[in-house]
Amino acid sequence: MRAQPPASHFIDGAYVDDPAGVEIVSRYPATDEVIARLTAATAATVDAAVAAATRAQVEWAALPGRERGRILRRAADILRERNRDLSVLETLDTGKALQETLVADAASGADCLEYFGGLAASVEGSTVDLGSAFVYTRREPLGVVAAIGAWNYPIQIACWKAAPALAAGNAVIFKPAETTPLSALKLAEILKEAGLPDGVYNVVQGHGDTGRMLVRHPGIAKVSLTGESGTGRKVMADAAETLKHVTLELGGKSPLIVFDDAHVENAVSAAMLANFYSTGQICSNGTRVFVQKGLKDRFLDRLVARTKAIRLGDPLDEDTHLGPLVSHEHRKKVLSYLEIGKAEGARLLVGGGVPKLQGFEGGAWVEPTVFADVTDDMRIAREEIFGPVMAVLDFETEEEVVARANDTPFGLAAGVFTADITRAHRVIGRIKAGTTWINAYNLTPVEMPFGGMKQSGLGRENGRAALDAYTQVKSVYVAMGDVEAPY
Ligand code: NDP
Repeated sequence: MRAQPPASHFIDGAYVDDPAGVEIVSRYPATDEVIARLTAATAATVDAAVAAATRAQVEWAALPGRERGRILRRAADILRERNRDLSVLETLDTGKALQETLVADAASGADCLEYFGGLAASVEGSTVDLGSAFVYTRREPLGVVAAIGAWNYPIQIACWKAAPALAAGNAVIFKPAETTPLSALKLAEILKEAGLPDGVYNVVQGHGDTGRMLVRHPGIAKVSLTGESGTGRKVMADAAETLKHVTLELGGKSPLIVFDDAHVENAVSAAMLANFYSTGQICSNGTRVFVQKGLKDRFLDRLVARTKAIRLGDPLDEDTHLGPLVSHEHRKKVLSYLEIGKAEGARLLVGGGVPKLQGFEGGAWVEPTVFADVTDDMRIAREEIFGPVMAVLDFETEEEVVARANDTPFGLAAGVFTADITRAHRVIGRIKAGTTWINAYNLTPVEMPFGGMKQSGLGRENGRAALDAYTQVKSVYVAMGDVEAPY
């Protein structure tokens, strides 16, 4: 299986290589086969990308928003036409089951390009009448945006960052995670085909140090990162040197609260989606599932039965539910948490190890796992595992569960399942998290602002709010009379 791109980077509308950069090897996580070899960008390539983006941004920003929007919407159409090919590529690069990538990756990216394409013409300021003068404001683009992605949703993250940035008239340099370098290049090809001028969207490959070069580069006006909270802290500190704008989408340890009166099958479905979708590699996952004591036994019975029925196997077979983790390195971390959970005394109900899958012995597989009787102090209830590992905790009262749900440095997401509508809104209102659901989990339509509170991040992606994050306000005072001066 090969998915070799023509070259590693995409700058100023063309593929370019940088043989001086260190090698990046992309592997199919289901088998560990090498699917592509690329090289990281050195400083010269980063400089070339910034120079191209700086040149291109001026003319791009000068286009009417409606013309920018038309190009983004055309790109959305092309993404949809090529959804299957892009989904196969994403499955090869990430290992996620094709059943998922067909509906959740390029498809979500297309929605985002379409949505912000539609909004591009509505970037507008306001007017304030001062009687003898007036003030108007313009929402101007920031300039060149460095977008740095994680490996769990490569093309989706590229689109979630590029679409609002481009709609507002910025140019973008995207650095994919080094484990999943491929689909961002396809997006570059598609945007060019849709009419995006050369240099407006560029891709540079690399590890953390290439990301750091971008964050420290004086030619970059804003950094938008999706990654771990620790990386977020480093990026914010580096960005502070040149006072760059930042949007940070970081990690989480989100609560999913199930009250006694919840619809059991729906709550179990949500808990499974919130822990096993994308093999558990989703930042907003509800990894602390709080179940009220009266429902506990019924909930766990159904959860265990349904988890045992999850089909692992060939990710390219559309009947497969769950693929491997993204890499062996990441699996080491996830497996260590399985051992930590057992040693901490959590009750292992299902999973807990490595599955045996014929033909896929070399892959980074791990079983979907459920621990019950988890307590708040256990590391599996406090730290982000980023794998298919669910921790179920018991609770008795609403007051208690709200306090325990908030007892975390993270604040990305939360969900509540209950038939009591007033309790649902009351509880969600008291949870300190940026993205929340009532009787649902992990649905992220592009219209819904997405992001975290506390150490889960700063700023929001998606929704109208994201456009504001890629513009800055210029105020213009217009005098309508003489200048009064005491001299
Ligand atoms: P990392 O934080 O390790 O990496 C994220 C990106 O930052 C990668 O492209 C990485 O490059 C780059 N990077 C690393 N160090 C630096 C640095 N000092 N300066 C600039 N860039 C740097 O995250 P993962 O890729 O491991 O992704 C998993 C994490 O992402 C989880 O914590 C998850 O919760 C979070 N996430 C958050 C989301 C959200 O929207 N809130 C959504 C998805 C994931 P390289 O890969 O080459 O090291």
